[in-house]
Amino acid sequence: MDATTLQPENGDSSFDALIVGGGLAGLYALHRLRGMGMRVRVYEAGSGVGGTWFWNRYPGARCDIESLEYSFSFSEALQQEWKWPERYGTQPEILRYINHVAQRFDLLRDVVLDTRVVSAQFDPERNRWTLTTDKGDVANAPFCIMATGNLSTPRVPDFKGLERFKGKWYHSGLWPHEGVDFSGLRVAVIGTGSSGVQLIPYVARQAKTLHVFQRTANFILPAKNMPLDPGTERAHKSEYPERRRAAYDTPFGIGGYPPPVKSALEATPEERQRTFEAKWEQGGSINFLYAYNDLLLSQESNETAAEFVRQKVRSIVRDQAVAELLAPKDHPIGTKRLCLDTNYYEVYNQRNVTLVDARRTPVEEILPGGLRTREAHYQFDAIVFATGFDAMTGALAEIDVRTGVRSPFPSTTLREEWSSGPRTYLGLMVAGFPNLFLVTGPGSPGVKSQMILSIEQHTDWIVDCLKYMQERGLNRIGASDQAQAAWVEHVNEIANATLYPLANSWYMGANIPGKPRVFMPYVGGVHRYKKRCDEVALNGYEGFVLESVRRKEAVAG
Ligand code: NAP
Repeated sequence: MDATTLQPENGDSSFDALIVGGGLAGLYALHRLRGMGMRVRVYEAGSGVGGTWFWNRYPGARCDIESLEYSFSFSEALQQEWKWPERYGTQPEILRYINHVAQRFDLLRDVVLDTRVVSAQFDPERNRWTLTTDKGDVANAPFCIMATGNLSTPRVPDFKGLERFKGKWYHSGLWPHEGVDFSGLRVAVIGTGSSGVQLIPYVARQAKTLHVFQRTANFILPAKNMPLDPGTERAHKSEYPERRRAAYDTPFGIGGYPPPVKSALEATPEERQRTFEAKWEQGGSINFLYAYNDLLLSQESNETAAEFVRQKVRSIVRDQAVAELLAPKDHPIGTKRLCLDTNYYEVYNQRNVTLVDARRTPVEEILPGGLRTREAHYQFDAIVFATGFDAMTGALAEIDVRTGVRSPFPSTTLREEWSSGPRTYLGLMVAGFPNLFLVTGPGSPGVKSQMILSIEQHTDWIVDCLKYMQERGLNRIGASDQAQAAWVEHVNEIANATLYPLANSWYMGANIPGKPRVFMPYVGGVHRYKKRCDEVALNGYEGFVLESVRRKEAVAG
């Protein structure tokens, strides 16, 4: 940093960097920036740190990536000392882990809790971002990191009459801390994505009756969760550094699976059946998608895997009419986030559980005592909305992000800039919004990867970039319009070569009425993305403009 940025300008409200969000990304960014000697403040809306794992407390909430992968790698001591009891971490375990990390690295003293950032404004003259919060705090710093998360804006559909509902209603992503007892109640769950699929078996155990309103049948694979075998854990931990490095060379940032070498169409039907069966038995979604190398590229190959899962549904669910409803037919497998379950399909063999086809008969209105579809009235004591999030852009759109930089950029607000869909360079910066970094932003593989690995990679890249600037006396960095345009085109080109755009997914913004339909993540793989990020850095931050604003000397990257 240049000398002035290290000096507070307005007492305690001036910092070297501000971070929005105290989840995994915000905490890691704080740790790294502090390591550079920076004065940092983190604002977090929750009353505790942990982001997604702080809010999503619904029964059955569990990570769908294995614990030994879904954890920080930056500290060998940390990764050796932490013990994961199960193959996949539950929400309480993961939150315990995050709090342990926060305490172990003394992070909490720089986190302001219960405080939501409402606006972020860049003043090009002062070269500073000013954040204002819902508590009236104002803080400024030359650099701002948006660690706002991709699935942090829960969305309840705009159902008529919800305000008149006399029972209790909940959203999976805003679950009460004290838990909910559904014993003896008539319950509706609306939504059958990852959250619905995880919570439905738990609600079904307690509720007197459970009606599940399914709009789109999803592909759901067995998690095969189990206690973590001490031998497996020891072996994994003895190779942790190599394993973490190897994960960066994979498409999803998850190591340990041999890369598939052939097309599903090159295998005989018997061979395919054996392969899919073995993957089904082992559990896990990446494992399943790794059966063949073209499942996300060729519709014909994809159909072989999709039909295998449909057959499984028909073999588990006794009522074949219900099984047919549960068997997904409107999108290729893997193009919406695959769900992992424990006893999900089995739940429909329970007498107290009814599946309602919310595609054929959508929910039309919430009534004081239940809800109504086009065909029927239902009485409910409680409604659970497992209806998802305004993904990837929702949290940023809630903040009034403004830039004072005009020429040559047309937009002054991020909302305006992204009105036709998000545009970024590498998912890390937005042209026209200098010194504002995104972690796992749209245009990066974040949501299509082991998220903690991506968080570390993005943050490490940002920290290296800031060090590079510090060493050269530079204090402003912005993505060039041309580099951003080329990256956006590349992201689209890659997506269009896959089957992903064929599904109405939250990756496309399709779950939010009126949201632009743009495929948001980079699906070229973590391995290619990281290589590109490293090249950009090696080439002097190619595609970025780095400046010393006091000297106004531009150093084109
Ligand atoms: P989601 O995948 O977006 O699912 C929302 C569900 O609500 C969908 O079934 C959707 O139907 C339905 N829905 C939305 N509006 C509706 C309406 N008006 N009427 C009827 N149904 C409606 O949300 P999510 O389940 O919360 O999961 C979001 C993401 O969070 C996941 O994809 C995953 O990345 C992450 N997550 C991960 C885990 C894990 O690690 N195990 C757990 C939970 C969440 P349509 O499909 O027709 O839109």
